[in-house]
Amino acid sequence: MSAKASLPNAILLQGRSGIGKLHLGRTLAQALLCEMPLESGEPCEHCGACDWFKTGNHPDFRLLEPAADAVGEIDEQNKPTDKKASKFITVTQVRELADFVNLTTHRNGRRIILVHPAEAMNVNAANALLKTLEEPPPDTLFILVSHHFQRLLPTVRSRCRKVSAPPPDRETALSWLREQGVNDAEACLSQSGCSPLAALQLSAEDYQLKRGRVLDQLDDPTRLDPLALAEQCEKLELAWVLDWVEQWAYDLASIGMAAQTRYRVDPPVQMIRLAKAVNLIELLRFQQELLAARRAVQHPLNNRLVLEQLFLSYGQLTNSQDATYV
Ligand SMILES: [Zn+2]
Repeated sequence: MSAKASLPNAILLQGRSGIGKLHLGRTLAQALLCEMPLESGEPCEHCGACDWFKTGNHPDFRLLEPAADAVGEIDEQNKPTDKKASKFITVTQVRELADFVNLTTHRNGRRIILVHPAEAMNVNAANALLKTLEEPPPDTLFILVSHHFQRLLPTVRSRCRKVSAPPPDRETALSWLREQGVNDAEACLSQSGCSPLAALQLSAEDYQLKRGRVLDQLDDPTRLDPLALAEQCEKLELAWVLDWVEQWAYDLASIGMAAQTRYRVDPPVQMIRLAKAVNLIELLRFQQELLAARRAVQHPLNNRLVLEQLFLSYGQLTNSQDATYV
C-alpha cells in the first residue's frame, strides 16, 4: 500500500535489449492494476483486472509502441524485426494519450502507460511526452522501457525515477535457453551479447545458417568475392549483416590483442590466422566504416552500394594484411 502511495509519476526501466525489461514493465503494470495483488507484490492473475490486462483490454492501460505505419527520423538499431514495422513512436501517438489521461479511471483509480522502447520516440513525440511529465495527471504512472537511455532527451530522463535492470548471469541465461529448447545455447547467448531473449530469437535455424554462410566467407579472404558477397547479403536484413560483420571485426581485433572472443564461441583456425596477420590500425578503420554503414541503414538509399563498399574495404583490409605479412 505504502509502495503504491510513494510511486513516482514516471519510471525509466533501463538495461540492455533482450533481458526481459518489457516483461518486467508489463508485470509491474499488471500488479499495480490488479485488485488482489499477492503479498510478494505480484499480480494475482485471476481477478477481473488481471483478466482484462492479459487479454489486452484493460481500460486503464495503454502500451505505446512504434506503430506499423508510422514514419520518423531517429536512429535506433534493432535486432531482427519485421521489416514493415516502424521503428518510431510519433507525436500523434503521444497526443492521442491526452484523452486517456484526462478521463476518469475505470477500475482501481490508477492508469498506466507503458512506452516501449522509449528511445523510439522522435524528438516531437518526446517533447509532447515531456509536457505531460511536467504537469503529471493524477493517478497516472508512465513506465518507460529503454534499451538505450542515453538516446532519450535529458529532460525526459530527469523526470523519471531510474531503475536499472541488470542482465542475468550467464549460467542462469544458459539454463533458461536450454529449457526453451535451444541446442546451441552457448553460441546464441554469445552472439546476443548475453541477452537471453535476443539469444532465443537468434537461435532460429534459418538465421544461424545465413549468418554462418557470411562469416565463413569473412574468415577466408583468399576465397572472398566482395561483390558477390554484397549481392548475396542484399537479400538479407541489412541490420543483421552489419551485426555479423561488426561482431566478426570485434572478435578479430580481440583475438589479435587478447586471444579471446566475445561473440564467436569457437573461432575457426582461418579466423585466428587472419587475426594474427591483420593490421590493427586498418582494422580500426574498417570498424569506423562499419559505424558509417550503420548510419546509412537509417536512410536505405541503396543497401547494395553500402554492402559493396563495405566488402571492398574488407578486401583492402585483408590485402594490407598480406602486405604486412610478407
Ligand atoms: Zn489480479
